[in-house]
Amino acid sequence: MTADPECIFCRIVAGEIPADVVHESATTLAFRDLMPQAPTHVLVIPRSHYPNAAALATGEPATAAHLFDAAREIAADEGLENGYRLVFNTGADAHQTVFHVHMHLLGGRSMDWPPG
Ligand code: AMP
Repeated sequence: MTADPECIFCRIVAGEIPADVVHESATTLAFRDLMPQAPTHVLVIPRSHYPNAAALATGEPATAAHLFDAAREIAADEGLENGYRLVFNTGADAHQTVFHVHMHLLGGRSMDWPPG
């Protein structure tokens, strides 16, 4: 497993920073976003440090699939039968601010398209 001691999400994985964890597996961790943008807003991350989704898919393709398995389980736990949105912000134009890949799972309200 790769880790970056400067990375805030690696520090959550290591238990050095608290988080409201809602799901975990051998390869993934999911916790509530500090600034929720929907009634359910959970970040699903790999335990290993990769800067974005493409790097994860190349480095640990099985773990990339585990993120989607976790999202399905969390959506069921959160009662999101009407649907939900999965987002990977990647790079500056998408306003990625944390460079440890994370899947946003958003649900519990109707959403607009296109996104802002
Ligand atoms: P992004 O803009 O896609 O990089 O999203 C980063 C997300 O991480 C934002 O929605 C932040 O609110 C969230 N965030 C940053 N630090 C924490 C933290 N310590 N615990 C939970 N969420 C966080």
